Amino acid sequence: MEESFDFDVIVVGGGVAGAVCAYLLGKEGREVLLIERGVEPGSKNLSGGVFYSRVMDEIFGNFTAEAPVERHITRNVLSFMNETSVVNVDYWDQRLAQPVNAVSVLRAKMDPWLAEQCEEVGVTVMPGVKVDELVREDGRFVGVRAGEDVLRAPITIAADGVNSFLAQYAGVRKKEPAHHLGVGVKSVIKLPEEKIRERFHLDGNEGAAYAIVGDCTQGVAGGGFMYTNKESISIGVVLMLGDLTKKKLSSSEIHDHMLNHPFIAPFLEDGELLEYGCHLVAEGGKAMQHDLVHPGLILVGDAAGFTLNTGFTVRGMDLAAGSAQAAARVVGEALDAGDYSAEKLGSYLTYLDEGFVGQDMNTYKRAPEFLETTPEMYGQTGELMADLFYRIYNHDLTPRKPLVKTAFGALKASGLKITRLAKIGYAAVRAL
Ligand SMILES: Cc1cc2nc3c(=O)[nH]c(=O)nc-3n(C[C@H](O)[C@H](O)[C@H](O)COP(=O)(O)OP(=O)(O)OC[C@H]3O[C@@H](n4cnc5c(N)ncnc54)[C@H](O)[C@@H]3O)c2cc1C
Repeated sequence: MEESFDFDVIVVGGGVAGAVCAYLLGKEGREVLLIERGVEPGSKNLSGGVFYSRVMDEIFGNFTAEAPVERHITRNVLSFMNETSVVNVDYWDQRLAQPVNAVSVLRAKMDPWLAEQCEEVGVTVMPGVKVDELVREDGRFVGVRAGEDVLRAPITIAADGVNSFLAQYAGVRKKEPAHHLGVGVKSVIKLPEEKIRERFHLDGNEGAAYAIVGDCTQGVAGGGFMYTNKESISIGVVLMLGDLTKKKLSSSEIHDHMLNHPFIAPFLEDGELLEYGCHLVAEGGKAMQHDLVHPGLILVGDAAGFTLNTGFTVRGMDLAAGSAQAAARVVGEALDAGDYSAEKLGSYLTYLDEGFVGQDMNTYKRAPEFLETTPEMYGQTGELMADLFYRIYNHDLTPRKPLVKTAFGALKASGLKITRLAKIGYAAVRAL
């Protein structure tokens, strides 16, 4: 007997991963349902906000010109922050805007645009509906249940974000250990456009992205970020859950501490708080990529753990888009073949490995462990750098010493052993 289905594919979650997957399948003429629990796509979502957007230009043709993006990031600053000092590596390069490499985005504006693109290619977008569980029959997934309603499709895409509750409830994915997760706390601060340009030394729609490490997290493994939007600043911290719990500190207090730091506060002066929120972050890297394919079910984006934190960049949105591309390709093939088995859908893993998503996850597979097991990154390293510069610039009328001697003096005073520094350097080279 022919099975009856309401749709070819049901996509759960209207974030970047879900919307891109639904869009690509809708464009192919498939019957797609996109379900989002937020009243409007984006209303539940939180991201730091720097989107490495070239993958989106590939998918939508002209994403950076047409989507509601904020600024084109041409200035990247790596900040080592201490209580009373900051050492910056400040990198500005116009080539990053030709073509556009990364943009700042606000999810409350971008996600509705993504949903609109889905609707334009015939996807049925269903906002304000929370999927309660996956429907399983004869060992395969055949749709979802939302309240009283059961909606059936031969393939379901779980794009429901970090910790994928859907997959966990269905028992196909275990609960992630704390060291695979981080917690992000973010504020959006409104400021006039001119003030943002002046304070961040920007021209036109250029934007700046600060990745900050050290006192901004009060020694907790993780980091801070500060990104410029058109008329606001996105600022916050991402903290490794395991270390945060161990140190018994409050994530919101750490966030406030960073915003009040004497280096940060002047950037925000006279600003008005527009948004404030917390969200989990996938921090486990490649170790989180397991159980991604089941009969009739594929996990994409954060639900599959595709986030990369290298200390220089936090990436999740581009990986969400890239994994959605790989999933859409395999779903199309499975629908044509009428084969929804795990073997058939397993090509998803091959397509991921052929593209930047799988390869980048592999390149940075040691990054999470490096960032978690190098506490010096969140204190001593920045202090040592600042102390070295202090010794160079502070002319206290004592005779100057050659640079090497000055450096060894700073190292000795820091309490860091040269062998430990060498070990950190070696681990960093291998991990990053
Ligand atoms: C503080 C912070 C800073 C970050 N900074 C950056 C950054 O600068 N750059 C970057 O690229 N990435 C960043 N990330 C990571 C990035 O936000 C994620 O990787 C990305 O949002 C993942 O997209 P997604 O579509 O997989 O999941 P999400 O964007 O989380 O979307 C999941 C969607 O599923 C919906 N949903 C969940 N459950 C259900 C259900 N049961 N029924 C219906 N709908 C459901 C949710 O409402 C949501 O809309 C950051 C994350 C955080 C928290």
